[in-house]
Amino acid sequence: MPELPEVETIRRDLNRLIVGKKILDIKTDSPKQVQPSLEVVKKAAVGATIKKISRRAKLLQIFLSNGQILAVHLKLTGRLLVRKKDDPPDDWQRVTISLSGNSELRFADLRKFGWIRLVDKKGLKSLLAEFGPEPMDDLTLQKFRDILASSRRPIKLVLLDQKKIAGVGNIYASDALFLAKIDPRKPANKVNEKGLNALYQAIEKVLKAGIKYRGASDQYYLDALGQKGSYQDHFLAYQREGKKCFDCGGKIAKIKLGGRGTYFCPRCQK
Ligand SMILES: [Zn+2]
Repeated sequence: MPELPEVETIRRDLNRLIVGKKILDIKTDSPKQVQPSLEVVKKAAVGATIKKISRRAKLLQIFLSNGQILAVHLKLTGRLLVRKKDDPPDDWQRVTISLSGNSELRFADLRKFGWIRLVDKKGLKSLLAEFGPEPMDDLTLQKFRDILASSRRPIKLVLLDQKKIAGVGNIYASDALFLAKIDPRKPANKVNEKGLNALYQAIEKVLKAGIKYRGASDQYYLDALGQKGSYQDHFLAYQREGKKCFDCGGKIAKIKLGGRGTYFCPRCQK
């Protein structure tokens, strides 16, 4: 699933590529993914100009000149691609937003869990209310301390809980815990002050690396121009099962935690 760095990369691309363009038409062969309905979204969006693209957690928001907002969640396999009208169709292209300047914003999604939803300011506010504070933004060290202290669940599951902390998913949680040398199974409230400080900094560090490398394309993720990111070439623990730990030379292990593949070094991470 695209996480904070992947969605942020797309946001930056879109701000560069489609701001100022006018929406001319919207088509879909997957109507469930356009909410509340294609008709309603078309009525509100066609004729409007794209003003800016924002992001909170893994949610993108396309602000239109008429005050309406298109919220986009990529879920597991969503892509937002900026193409020329005559470019060949993309794999799993579900929604096509025709734009001025002979271009298109295409929403492609293999698994069809992603969505585009028309909201007003109030609707957006209630969508965003579901998310906890965000790293590199309003997640202060004190808030982080309080979040960890209030849960006995394994630390990794707390990092993945979007209601607690926004934007961190499986890749960056695994790598941040590796950097901070904390066992992903450790109860969150048992992480000591030193570990907590290390983890707080590690989260920021891996997210920044993810953004620098334009996201991780180990699976479906592509940027808005259809190019792969390269953070997968810099994974620290994630998907490195059986490979050498960069710190101790021991083997990275894989376990299941909360149903998710979890990678860590049993020797370094206590
Ligand atoms: Zn190690």
